[in-house]
Amino acid sequence: MNQLETFLAAHIKSHGPIDVGQFMTMALGHPQHGYYMKQDPFGRGGDFTTAPEISQMFGEMIGAWAADIWMQMGSPARISLVECGPGRGTLMADIVRILPFKDQCDVHFVEMSPVLRELQRKAVPKATWHESVESIPDNQPVILIGNEFLDALPMRQYEFVNGTWAERVVAIDGDGFVWGRRAAGVALPAGKDGDVFEVAPVRESFTQNMCALLKRAGGVGIMIDYGHSVSGMGDTLQAVAKHKYAPVLENIGDADLTSHVDFEAIGAAAAQAGAKVLGAVEQGEFLQRLGITARAAYLASKSKDAGAIETALKRLTDSDQMGTLFKVMAFTYDPVLQPAGF
Ligand code: SAH
Repeated sequence: MNQLETFLAAHIKSHGPIDVGQFMTMALGHPQHGYYMKQDPFGRGGDFTTAPEISQMFGEMIGAWAADIWMQMGSPARISLVECGPGRGTLMADIVRILPFKDQCDVHFVEMSPVLRELQRKAVPKATWHESVESIPDNQPVILIGNEFLDALPMRQYEFVNGTWAERVVAIDGDGFVWGRRAAGVALPAGKDGDVFEVAPVRESFTQNMCALLKRAGGVGIMIDYGHSVSGMGDTLQAVAKHKYAPVLENIGDADLTSHVDFEAIGAAAAQAGAKVLGAVEQGEFLQRLGITARAAYLASKSKDAGAIETALKRLTDSDQMGTLFKVMAFTYDPVLQPAGF
């Protein structure tokens, strides 16, 4: 057992089985041994690669999207660029690089990992760091971004067995981790035997906190992630290590742990907070509407390795790659703003 597994086993032995949300929270965020807290998981030598790490084109498109919003807002003298879960800081560095008004921007990062905060400091030295969106200043408009942030926030799983919903829990049997069940205790949609339904109260409360900031400060938020536009049944909990799926209950804290984002639930949480919701649209379509094909052609014409740019474009936009599985949703309280791409 690694140190996190030893901690988890002791916790379960003294407090009883934990739900999937508690399991994700500890596996990813335990202060010393959590997956994000102790290492840089990104890139070819790491466990997984995200859109901004594939190509600068991704950040350039989001930058162009942000610049359009800034102009629609009447080119405010100062603006906050907020990113939740910035990873290595690559996306924000690519965005800021292309903005003609970069000197008028204050960058704020919401990040829990000290290791990743250090990398982000190298990418964007002048940023300010926060534990949550609630402490972001609201005295100037905000453009808030999150790429693969929601999928890392915890969710809980329910299974329909013998005609009723039960919650999936992680238990201990001897010295090994095993799946268990307990009474659900919440109202859930009608199911049939074998169905799994996922509920993510932490994602929904994050969405409402983000919306509260947008309401106070003005501006727009955008969330990009893998997931589904319409709520449905299915077990989407996944562990990934070294670019391969891994068993969820093995090497805990040494594999990334995520689940697909239910954008219908996120949109409903935002609408309940009174926000206007745009999307979800598919990432491929979104990036194409923002002009990624023309940007790729331009970069290819200037590059010695046009093939690599073509490959990156396909990874970001093709249906059998990230183009369809990844969705984009935007949020605002501004009655006039028309965020591009939706
Ligand atoms: N946006 C980046 C990284 C995605 S990985 C990219 O696209 O490359 C998820 C990021 O969210 C990491 O930076 C992780 O440390 C951060 N994170 C996960 N849970 C968090 C939480 N509860 N609060 C703050 N940051 C969190």
